[in-house]
Amino acid sequence: MKKLIAILTASVMLALLFCGCADGKNGGENSGGNGNSNKKKVAFTFDDGPHAPAENLDEGYYPYTTYILDKLESLGMRATFFVVGNRVEISYNKAAIARGSKLGCEYGSHTYEHTKLSAFGSDSERDRSLTATENAIMAAGAPKPTLFRPVGGAANEAQLAFLAGKGYHSIYWNVDTRDWDGHPKTSQKGTEEYEAFVNGRVDLIMAQVKDGDIILMHDIYMSSVDIFLRAADRLVAEGYELVTVSELLSLKGKAAEPCLYTSKDVKISHAG
Ligand SMILES: [Zn+2]
Repeated sequence: MKKLIAILTASVMLALLFCGCADGKNGGENSGGNGNSNKKKVAFTFDDGPHAPAENLDEGYYPYTTYILDKLESLGMRATFFVVGNRVEISYNKAAIARGSKLGCEYGSHTYEHTKLSAFGSDSERDRSLTATENAIMAAGAPKPTLFRPVGGAANEAQLAFLAGKGYHSIYWNVDTRDWDGHPKTSQKGTEEYEAFVNGRVDLIMAQVKDGDIILMHDIYMSSVDIFLRAADRLVAEGYELVTVSELLSLKGKAAEPCLYTSKDVKISHAG
């Protein structure tokens, strides 16, 4: 076990050096964000939305992203949404983005059609997908995105360099809720199985989370909404502020680097 830890530590150190991003820990330095700088901070990130039910939403429910915005508004806090461009173009999703943007939420790109970086035939194809997503986000009323979340979390060095060249900070995560993995259906809400899944994922977040973390979730499942609602309450009770990725990492005005940010203190050169 000691050996394993030593290897892991060495790998992280190597990754930091390799990347030229050896920021390391920076102690009590604050981000210079917007006050409340002594609070512990964490960034929730939601991929694959905005939630766009194909036709009929389960009776009595709103598009799931709405519940997340309602919660953030009531807390006066923020999150980051890595949206799929073609889902942004649906009218009520445009309204959700305009609303989220007013609340201080951040919108990043998750490609136009949810495509892995490796699945594009060329940089010009990647470029087209990025531009289409930028246009969709801006048409919905949010600023031009400067954050990118690779589909499947996979990005090699050449792809990261391409993204940085386009002005994108590439964002990974260090708390994986696996909220998609075996998620219960909305119709199961209130059942023991549903509750066990949701509470299990909330416990997983609470067991791992610390100041400066980036949490991966998806705003396209009702169970994910419930995980977020409960985790948010517990985190706030523990003194956390929920902030955007750019706030957490102090990225405003910072040049993009060919790295993946996994948390406030760790960047890696590639993943996959
Ligand atoms: Zn995705």
